[in-house]
Amino acid sequence: MKLARLNDGPEIFHTIQGEGISAGSPAVFVRASLCNLHCRWCDTEYTWNFAGTPWEHDKDAQPGGAKHDKAEVIIELPPAEVAKEIARHPCPRVVLTGGEPLLQQGDWLEVIRHLRQRDPAYLFEVETNGTLIPDPDFEDAIDQFNVSPKLAHAGMPEKLRLVPEALAHFASSPKAWFKFVAARPEDLDEIDILAERFSLPAEHILIMPEGRTAQALDRHGPALVDACLSRGWRFGDRLHVRLWGDRRGV
Ligand code: SF4
Repeated sequence: MKLARLNDGPEIFHTIQGEGISAGSPAVFVRASLCNLHCRWCDTEYTWNFAGTPWEHDKDAQPGGAKHDKAEVIIELPPAEVAKEIARHPCPRVVLTGGEPLLQQGDWLEVIRHLRQRDPAYLFEVETNGTLIPDPDFEDAIDQFNVSPKLAHAGMPEKLRLVPEALAHFASSPKAWFKFVAARPEDLDEIDILAERFSLPAEHILIMPEGRTAQALDRHGPALVDACLSRGWRFGDRLHVRLWGDRRGV
């Protein structure tokens, strides 16, 4: 399976979940390479912004912002090896993230089987952009889906970033929680429209402030709290941004 490479190994690290309904919980993060979207502000663009791709990322125009050589940013490992690496950490919660982890569901299922053979108490969360419907076996194996539909500010056409069948599927799943990053009033208007169009349950919607620094989170947070109060949504912080900014592997 294809994972993001960090130094000489896969990007697998023991930390706390920084966002969403299990924020603060100790977790092992495993970062898949590859994504079916190309958000222009993506903070893990090394999972898809490869040399030769036609997509633009905000970093491309910055000094030193060249696209990535695939061989330098992808590591390919058998699922059994990935499971072994995860099991080195004394932690039963595992977060499958990316990129878009649902592009490699069969491999993840093998990872999950290996780990649950070691210890049935393992819990698995998936961070997904909500454009792919999980296979039934994969869905059964996962405890929680953290679904982040992308808004207009991601810079892609709506037909790419919103797949109605996939969102309707997640809206009907008690395992799915919807996370939105917002900063501007237009973002909230868009989320209102999505929530109504796809019947997203208000008690499973979390709104988090945009920002890569604690100051930016603080600037955007208070207005979002007001929006959450009037709609019955949850407000969520982004603990990893507060603790580590945009550093990788922590
Ligand atoms: S869906 Fe996620 S990983 Fe993919 S480009 Fe957008 S932010 Fe990045």
